[in-house]
Amino acid sequence: MRDFTLKSYQSLLVAFQQAGYQFQTFEELITHPKDGKSVTMRHDVDELAWNALKIAQLENKLGVRATYFFRIVKQSNVPEVIKQIVELGHEIGYHYEDLALAEGDEAKAMKTFEENLNYFRKYYPVRSVCMHGSSTSKYDNRLLWKDHSLSDYGLVGEPYLSVDFDKIFYLTDTGYAWDGGKFATRDIVESNFGLSFHKTSQIVDCIKAGNFPEKALILAHTLWTDNRMQWDGLHIREFFRNNLKLLARNNPMIERFYKKIVEMYWKK
Ligand SMILES: [Zn+2]
Repeated sequence: MRDFTLKSYQSLLVAFQQAGYQFQTFEELITHPKDGKSVTMRHDVDELAWNALKIAQLENKLGVRATYFFRIVKQSNVPEVIKQIVELGHEIGYHYEDLALAEGDEAKAMKTFEENLNYFRKYYPVRSVCMHGSSTSKYDNRLLWKDHSLSDYGLVGEPYLSVDFDKIFYLTDTGYAWDGGKFATRDIVESNFGLSFHKTSQIVDCIKAGNFPEKALILAHTLWTDNRMQWDGLHIREFFRNNLKLLARNNPMIERFYKKIVEMYWKK
């Protein structure tokens, strides 16, 4: 069976529900965490915003509320999609990359951060933000919070700053695998759960067996699709991207090449 389809995503949600897990948004996880078994589905809408809407519709059908972090770039920031996801009852947050876009100029980044946050607040009372990894930039967007505090901007949480990953199990679908963390540049957290999965069905089996942690935060991007052509195309792209990222780490020429491709991709 193909993985990372809406069908396999549904099997994951249903497994959680059947095992007695409650779903909560990221804001709820920070401000009113539920007792007992609970899971937060976080979606970073890096691109393919219309896929996010399909995921949001599926969750809504199952009575699940999730959190969608949108970037300011046009591949993510699609007003029609944001509006519909709000209507489906999900939380919206800002997936910021201001420090990378400002080439490290902190004052400029703080200014655009505030403007962009206010922009997303036209759609939803945003209280959560989450850094975008900006893997080809030398600037780590989180450094914005070195000299500033979330609460000054009416914010309650940032996944990389506000979550204790020794208490909350963190899983991410980087590069079409649940153990693809080796391809990530910044989206890495340390934890001591000692669990590792490759396929979604392995997570489902673990939940069914009662071995899955009681609290979890799961990051799923927008690459999940039932469209066979899109699924094939994205798998090929991710395969090359993962390998290029690894090669680029030790080879400056490949690094420059990879950076160029990424820049071209986001400019189109
Ligand atoms: Zn991102």
